[in-house]
Amino acid sequence: MLNKDLNKNMIPLSVPHISGNEWKYIKECLDTEWVSSVGKYVDKFESAICSWSGAKYAVACVNGTAALHIALKLVGVTPGDEVIVPTVTFISPVNAVRYLGAEPVFMDCDKYYNMDVEKLIEFIKKETFFKKGQTINKTTNNKITAVIPVHIFGNAVNLDRLLPVCKERNIKIVEDAAESMGTCYREEALNGRCTGTIGDIGCYSFNGNKIITTGGGGMIVSDSQKYAEKARYVTTQAKDDSLHSIHNEIGYNFRLTNIQAAMGVAQLENLKKYLKIKKCNYDYYKAEIDEILGLHLAEVPDYADNNYWMYALQIDKEVYGKSREELMLFLQKNNIQTRPIWHLNHLQLPYKDCQNYKIEKAYDMLDKTLNIPCSVNLKKESIDQVIRNLKC
Ligand SMILES: *Cc1c(COP(=O)(O)O)cnc(C)c1O
Repeated sequence: MLNKDLNKNMIPLSVPHISGNEWKYIKECLDTEWVSSVGKYVDKFESAICSWSGAKYAVACVNGTAALHIALKLVGVTPGDEVIVPTVTFISPVNAVRYLGAEPVFMDCDKYYNMDVEKLIEFIKKETFFKKGQTINKTTNNKITAVIPVHIFGNAVNLDRLLPVCKERNIKIVEDAAESMGTCYREEALNGRCTGTIGDIGCYSFNGNKIITTGGGGMIVSDSQKYAEKARYVTTQAKDDSLHSIHNEIGYNFRLTNIQAAMGVAQLENLKKYLKIKKCNYDYYKAEIDEILGLHLAEVPDYADNNYWMYALQIDKEVYGKSREELMLFLQKNNIQTRPIWHLNHLQLPYKDCQNYKIEKAYDMLDKTLNIPCSVNLKKESIDQVIRNLKC
């Protein structure tokens, strides 16, 4: 089911909510004719993301995929390198690896849909060796430069476990926090730190379906001034002298416009409110759904305060009597938009020949999961309608 199938009675899966200063700030851009990729809202959005996340530096990008592409480039991914990625994720971070001529190595997921950190550590220990400051894949003899933990559905990856291993093995961490804006750790060493700010570089997305949106947009965050300056440089065509147009490197046109940033500033003002609504709706759904025989709403990690971006319904088809596919079609007929999780990336045509490590759980999670409506502006009547239909 895609958005083209939506009619006006359909309860959508995840749509933007525009209720704050969006019109006012965008109007100001138009009135002042500051519409392009330079302007006060770009600066404001970047500093607002810094204050929100606690990152020292932020560089606005045209979208989250571009942010990931540049982040991988900055940490030193070059052609022939390998980057560890989850098989359960939107394909964007996997594609970003290939944009640089590098190869993904796929990992299984855990019960939160995130990359299984224990299996990943096992892979690093058993399947790679460390030589001259580099981690080398025993199977391919290629260098493993980076890992991309993706905080799926807003669930924080257990980075506390991963950090020391990556540090010891000189594997850079590029966090894909596209879905987890607002999720922060609440335990042990990472207590109070937000997803996206733990690794070497973090990336956010402000695509239309994310918890806050700029229509399309992304952000690179880091505590490293070196990475931030380089990110700014390569996303603006690598200008060494803008007057005489000197470019000593290949750059990209990846900057966010002032109009989009204006929307981002307005959206971010409401993030706290959105987070409350998302949690409240999750709790309401969960209490009702867990009463239905054969259905369960996926738990979230207890070591973080979740942003509850997406709600994952889990179906035990033997007990419930309908498979995921049957339930999806049934709900569609009843004007409720749902979506299975992404096809596993190690099976996608461009990546089917890449290495993968002991992928087991991901198949089961794919088979039993259906994402249900989760927009910030979801009405209580709509949630009740979803629950009523799940009970049928
Ligand atoms: C949305 C998303 C991205 C980036 O998406 P853009 O549409 O390019 O902003 C990257 N990774 C994940 C996991 C996502 O969900």
